Amino acid sequence: MKSIYFISDIHLDPNNSKVTKKFIEFMNNKSSDMKELYILGDLFEFWIDDKYDIIQNNLIISTLKKISENGTKIFLMHGNRDFLVGKKFTKITNIQILPENYILNLNETKILITHGDLLCTDDVDYQKFRRFIRNKLTLKIFNSLSNNIKIKIASYLRGKSKKITSQKPENIMDVNEKEVLNFYERFGTDIIIHGHTHRKSIHKTRNNGTNYTRYVLGDWHNAPSYIIFKNNKISLFDV
Ligand code: MN
Repeated sequence: MKSIYFISDIHLDPNNSKVTKKFIEFMNNKSSDMKELYILGDLFEFWIDDKYDIIQNNLIISTLKKISENGTKIFLMHGNRDFLVGKKFTKITNIQILPENYILNLNETKILITHGDLLCTDDVDYQKFRRFIRNKLTLKIFNSLSNNIKIKIASYLRGKSKKITSQKPENIMDVNEKEVLNFYERFGTDIIIHGHTHRKSIHKTRNNGTNYTRYVLGDWHNAPSYIIFKNNKISLFDV
């Protein structure tokens, strides 16, 4: 029986051949076991425009295309880095884009999947920026710019974010536990899988007599971080 895979935060970058190689190797090794693959955001380090970035990432695109043609169903959630991945990408790769919070029903197991940044409500500045950058008007203006300008803006924002992140206290950038409980309640689930924080872990909590588990995927800086769902069991790997 094939498995269901979850990954996030690979941060693929045309200028970083190491991570590209790691990703392609992983996909080629595991795809024969992949019934479904859920990519929970930040597959790419940045994405400014389908037309431009599909060409830049042609090796990744052709790998994804090949794997979905071979029978793996691939689903993608937007992360904060690649929320501009759009219809041209999905058409060429045959990948389906999921909404920012999505309930998966796997046999008797109900899992909420989400990128994870929406859980980080302590980082008020980030949440404000998130709303601004995804605002329709902001996007309309951004989309009207030339690729050169878009690249400059994206790289400026990444530099700025790195600087800000290095100065912020660690706990501000992690999930807010209250918001996590809100999510469990809101979506009527006791399991959440997410990424974004790059803090690979399994968090178990008990609230009002119910046991809850939150699986956090890691980034791929050292090794591929992934989750497998098989025989009604969820396992977190980092090999
Ligand atoms: Mn992220």
